[in-house]
Amino acid sequence: MSAVEIAAAVRSGERTAVDVVDEHLAAIAARDGDIHAFNLVTADEARAAALAIDRRVAAGEDPGPLAGVPVALKDNLCTAGIPTTCSSRILEGWRPPYDATVVERLAAAGAIAIGKTNLDEFAMGSSTENSAFGPTRNPHDLTRVPGGSSGGSAAAVAAGFAPLALGSDTGGSIRQPAALCGVVGMKPTYGAVSRYGLVAFASSLDQIGPFAASVADAAALYEAIAGHDPRDATSIPRPAARVSEGLGQGVGGLRVGIVSELLGAEGIEPDVAARAREAAEALESAGAKVDEVSVPSVVYGLSAYYLIAPAEASSNLARYDGVRFGLRVDAPTTGEMYDRTRTAGFGAEVKRRIMLGTYALSAGYYDAFYGKAQRVRTLILRDFQAAYERFDVLLSPASPSTAFKLGAKSADPLTMYLNDVCTIPSNLSGDPAISVPFGTGADGLPIGVQVLAPSLGEETLFRVAAALEAAAPAA
Ligand code: GLN
Repeated sequence: MSAVEIAAAVRSGERTAVDVVDEHLAAIAARDGDIHAFNLVTADEARAAALAIDRRVAAGEDPGPLAGVPVALKDNLCTAGIPTTCSSRILEGWRPPYDATVVERLAAAGAIAIGKTNLDEFAMGSSTENSAFGPTRNPHDLTRVPGGSSGGSAAAVAAGFAPLALGSDTGGSIRQPAALCGVVGMKPTYGAVSRYGLVAFASSLDQIGPFAASVADAAALYEAIAGHDPRDATSIPRPAARVSEGLGQGVGGLRVGIVSELLGAEGIEPDVAARAREAAEALESAGAKVDEVSVPSVVYGLSAYYLIAPAEASSNLARYDGVRFGLRVDAPTTGEMYDRTRTAGFGAEVKRRIMLGTYALSAGYYDAFYGKAQRVRTLILRDFQAAYERFDVLLSPASPSTAFKLGAKSADPLTMYLNDVCTIPSNLSGDPAISVPFGTGADGLPIGVQVLAPSLGEETLFRVAAALEAAAPAA
């Protein structure tokens, strides 16, 4: 059953939320030992919440549009009183005193949080192998990665552990694992979804977004979490776009541009480029006008991102000092205590980012690295704006390859970074984008096609995604 169907059945009293939750907990118990999508399954809290939903239905109330639907939460979203680890030792033992806005909104919509999902430590990575608690495995093939950093959330949906999940996307961490796990994953316009209670990685790039097995379910989840939040200063002061209503409208007359630079980008496998071209043809058959478009500066996205994101991360992660959150390794002086805590608490990739970021921001290098990267960011934004004068949406692969083997890219950070070459540009520009499953590679594994839209273009984005889903070859 889809999330939309579960909610309808629970609201009408046809199914109980307790039954729905128990069914998903049983699926988790049967298979998560092998997959490790979850850092923590909150079974008792989920059953209690389900019972409360069922009581409200029995009392004739409407518990909301996502009544009784289990949702898996990436473990960098704050949950009051429930451990939030970012898959890092440094947060060991920390229980947030408050819920993230998205967590509050889900509860208000009747959804049921079922657990916290594994991620690359502090969302830094593309395979979920950088977790301090061990990797997540791809439900389609347990010898392969689910992608990352929201690999646990993507795997949870792909394995049927939850119909819906939330992730965060700083450079592709929703769309890339969605592509590798054969599910839908969407990054909203920067500021469309509140970041309040999302543990910060790179604040000018981070966005929370939905995972689901279908575009309609992803749209329903987006509607539940989006909209203005006064507790996030970067939140856009307007209500959530009603993206579900237009899903069936088709793409007749829409102008679709396939981004040349991303079809030929470094490391894009031929199967992946072929599926993106087929997706463009499918949209053309459905009535869209399709053409190739050049967005020249996107090729510099990866380089700019790996200066900007680590720079912001080095600043954001300065707060983990052994005093305020989680782990503390005692030492004779405060300075040594900081040192020992951070040495013991952070993993290798996080340390690499902190060093890169600190270097890029240091006096004498700031203009050469951080300043230049910011100028490239502006160029990318302008190139996208120019493309959107001629096209309603753009199309590209989501990830350069299908799911790769565990360990295949972990020795070489640069190879790992290349996974996000297609997704990073829209984080730099702040525009929305979505990955939709579209066929498989020669290896039989899922491939995702990315649809990109201009800022606040969510309605068109979801509409095109729905058309692609309808035209997709069976996986
Ligand atoms: N893989 C990218 C990185 O490692 C993006 C991560 C993300 O979107 N959180 O930074």
